[in-house]
Amino acid sequence: MTMVGATCTGCGTTNVIGATAAYMHGMGTVIRCPSCDTALIRVAQVRGHYLLDMRGVRVLQIKEG
Ligand SMILES: [Zn+2]
Repeated sequence: MTMVGATCTGCGTTNVIGATAAYMHGMGTVIRCPSCDTALIRVAQVRGHYLLDMRGVRVLQIKEG
């Protein structure tokens, strides 16, 4: 299972995000920091492409295992 951690630009908290959460919900998904409500990742679906707006993420950690 791949674990994804995103460090929030707002408060510096690292939040674990389910690897599939970012792209399973389709259009208009916003993943927010549970600590300060900063929008970490916005997901938009445009003509079959998923666009990840990750301006709220300072560091993205991807861990396999
Ligand atoms: Zn935060």
